[in-house]
Amino acid sequence: MGSSVETLEFQAETRQLLRLVIHSIYSNKDIFLRELISNASDALDKLRLESLTDSDLDADTSDLHIELEVDREARTLTVRDNGIGMTRDELVELIGTIAKSGTAGLLEKIKESKDAAAAQSLIGQFGVGFYSAFMVADRVTLLTRRAGTESGTRWESDGEGTYQLEPVDGLPVGTSVILHLKPVDGEDGLADYLSAWKIRQIVKQYSDFIRWPIRMARERTGATGQVTGTDTDADGAGATDGAEAAAPEMDTLNSMKALWARPRSEVTEAEYHEFYRQISRDWLDPAETVHMRAEGNFEYEALLFIPSPAPLDLFSREARGGVQLYVKRVFIMDDCEALMPNYLRFVKGVVDAHDLSLNISREILQHDRQIQAVRRRLVKKVLGAVKTMQAKDAERYRKLWSQFGRVLKEGLVEDADNTETLLELVSAPSTHDPEATTTLREYVGRMKEGQDAIYYLTGETRSVVENSPHMEAFAAKGYEVLILTDPIDEVWVEQVPAFDGHRLQSIAKGQVDLDGASGDEQEADGEKARREQDFAALLPWLGEALSEQVKQVRLSSRLTTSAACIVGDAHDMTPTLEKMYRAMGQQVPPVRRILEINPAHPLITGLRAAHAADADDPALAEIAELVYGGALLAEGGDLPDPARFARLLTERLTRAL
Ligand code: ADP
Ligand code: MG
Repeated sequence: MGSSVETLEFQAETRQLLRLVIHSIYSNKDIFLRELISNASDALDKLRLESLTDSDLDADTSDLHIELEVDREARTLTVRDNGIGMTRDELVELIGTIAKSGTAGLLEKIKESKDAAAAQSLIGQFGVGFYSAFMVADRVTLLTRRAGTESGTRWESDGEGTYQLEPVDGLPVGTSVILHLKPVDGEDGLADYLSAWKIRQIVKQYSDFIRWPIRMARERTGATGQVTGTDTDADGAGATDGAEAAAPEMDTLNSMKALWARPRSEVTEAEYHEFYRQISRDWLDPAETVHMRAEGNFEYEALLFIPSPAPLDLFSREARGGVQLYVKRVFIMDDCEALMPNYLRFVKGVVDAHDLSLNISREILQHDRQIQAVRRRLVKKVLGAVKTMQAKDAERYRKLWSQFGRVLKEGLVEDADNTETLLELVSAPSTHDPEATTTLREYVGRMKEGQDAIYYLTGETRSVVENSPHMEAFAAKGYEVLILTDPIDEVWVEQVPAFDGHRLQSIAKGQVDLDGASGDEQEADGEKARREQDFAALLPWLGEALSEQVKQVRLSSRLTTSAACIVGDAHDMTPTLEKMYRAMGQQVPPVRRILEINPAHPLITGLRAAHAADADDPALAEIAELVYGGALLAEGGDLPDPARFARLLTERLTRAL
């Protein structure tokens, strides 16, 4: 047969691509096996399809499978399938050529791009599958016979620009790819792909859901002494004696279960949960399962889960998303951030897209319009599932919100498209019921006649907020106030203008005029004017005395029992937010807010009288400082100089006794 060997050259672009692949385009060499198994799986699909559609094709499809074979002596790893196979001409066309359009242009760009990451993202646009074999092998032999033909072909190449072709008789239908492996301790630092353990691990990781069985002979113990002995966890009986077993016992390495590809109606809850536990490493059942299929010009299946307990790293910088990307049952990547926004990073699951390249890069995914459309749809689905739970099972929803509410609220800042839905989901404590939380919708249902805004107060803890002086008038008049104590609350309330037509209004900001709503407007106005008159001298003096701390001093209509409180203008940073920024090490200019004093409080009326009697009394300035400090403490703020405050207070008290 030697006489009929032909030597052919790879097409020019193929040669360039080969060089790129071999010289470490992929940092992860393990993927060669995924690529070869994927090709074998495609070949099995094709043979099955052809045998169904072509009644003349005489092919045996009774045991379609993929087989992996290790020969330690020869240092070869073989990936064999009994699928469709290739004719000689197909070999030249499919393996010798990159027949994809635009290849040449892309290669130009890759050559021009200086950095490796850019090159890698460009290379993702090729189907370089088969060539990845040359990352781990210095020679590849391919034996193949096309179903429906009589003779086969042997193909061989060292990946250096040429390949040899030779007809071979007596081959079975299908393809064997024989990798002559590079040395393990070579300069590339290759793993030992002769190790059964390593092969099993790669198959489990990347090809578990291939629908065809991937088989490998179970290693025998004894005789040869070349045994790893680490694979005793396989199912079935124990190891066979080398002597009595003529045919090796085969293990199937993959579970073959592409659960997401099965119709919902055919999957049991137990199966969903088992799958969830496999991919999430969670011990518990998920709180919610979303299983969907999209047909049309971009087909995909998605199987997503919302865990029950939040993972511990949810708020750490290293928190990773949980959605894996598959392309036609082949694992592509973990944590596919292009498919799920950051605020849904707790969602776990699988998206299997049918029309993507196996080598698609993260970079390209991020900018792919179809992927963006998939993501929008998935977000809607997940939020829809949460909403349904909220409507149907309040108790389960309460648990879910307690775990993920803080993260979901990040969506109010990140995801303007879904503000409406997210606002419906928000659940917060309020002054209405100290035991329960409320939705905004429920709040709106309880709003008082004439109330147009949804009132809230942010702060560090529930008790600080509840006891804040800002609450007094609202409590006295029976207005409900939302108590927002998550750090993210400080941010989203600023970004969301309104819910259901009602603006969100901080009770610590701006002027409060609750009397206006009650009807007696004229009377209230008259009263107000009289008070302004009474304090005409004190207010400007106080403003001067506290000019470093506040930008204005005015009379308050929000206080009943406290002497004073500090309020912000609509766009002033809240003290909690200021603290958060400082804690993160950011420089924020000190915010000067407004001091509101209670004209009915004895301390304030006393101060007014003392000021009227002797405006130059040095004690007055100290009292002003104490009034301001007390207001700061009451809202949970930090005094700029606590020691000074304590000293002034002690001196005052001593004198009073
Ligand atoms: P892709 O799979 O993206 O097309 P590959 O480089 O992996 O790119 O493979 C190129 C082509 O070679 C495949 O499309 C297929 O037609 C053919 N091929 C590769 N492996 C096999 C195989 N085991 N059996 C039959 N055909 C194969
Ligand atoms: Mg391929």
